[in-house]
Amino acid sequence: MKRKNILIAGPCAVESQTQIKTSIENAKIRSLNFMRMSLWKPRTRPGFEGLGEKGIKYLIQGALSGINPATEVLLPSQAELVMESVLIANPQTKLLLWIGARNQNHHIQRDIAKAVKGESRVFLMVKNQPWPSEDHWEGIVEHVLSSRISEKQIILCHRGFIPNGNNPKGFRNPPDFGMAMRIKEKFMLPMIFDPSHTGGSVENVIKITKEAEKYNFDGLIVEVHHNPKSALTDAKQQLTWKSFDKLIQSYSKEVTHYGN
Ligand code: PEP
Ligand code: MN
Repeated sequence: MKRKNILIAGPCAVESQTQIKTSIENAKIRSLNFMRMSLWKPRTRPGFEGLGEKGIKYLIQGALSGINPATEVLLPSQAELVMESVLIANPQTKLLLWIGARNQNHHIQRDIAKAVKGESRVFLMVKNQPWPSEDHWEGIVEHVLSSRISEKQIILCHRGFIPNGNNPKGFRNPPDFGMAMRIKEKFMLPMIFDPSHTGGSVENVIKITKEAEKYNFDGLIVEVHHNPKSALTDAKQQLTWKSFDKLIQSYSKEVTHYGN
């Protein structure tokens, strides 16, 4: 399978007008496939859960400014709402919705895929679950495919697994690159890598991206914030745009049908 080099970057969560304006400017000059901008954040403990529906105006702002927005959806109704609002505001835009690691209800997974199905401007990214089971990961993909969504709309993503005791390298969610490659080959679907949630710190994000280069990933999704210290979520792992440029220096982006 030919490597696709899908490039997605942007803040962990949408926070403010200033943040989104700066992020859009930066994303545009880097011609990313999609800019990440999450409205609904699954949280381990109660805290900032994202702007939710109130933030849809920022996705629209992104789409009208010429970037393709990407956001996690926890529910099928959120997928429908984002699609309706953003595609009507700019029919030319592409949109990426994703099912995150913590969304492990197969009814919800399948119904989100059903919401996206048949809309060729919308792509669905599917992340692995938090615990390391190849069987479960295969099952997620099978549940999503059972909606009969077109395979052209799907992107898989590896974000590592929650460590269980032994974690010598200290990554937040140590990856299993071998497993990720087997899932990619089994389903013949593009598989991108999330060094941000795998690494958990700026230093680890850089380290693990280098390691991942040895594998046949089809792209990266990276958390980038204009002022990481002030970030309301995942402050430790978000890169500045300058360090993002360094990270992807050796990354050759090809034009794909995913977004740009
Ligand atoms: C995210 O990408 O915003 C996220 C919450 O990651 P994960 O689902 O991998 O934990
Ligand atoms: Mn995050």
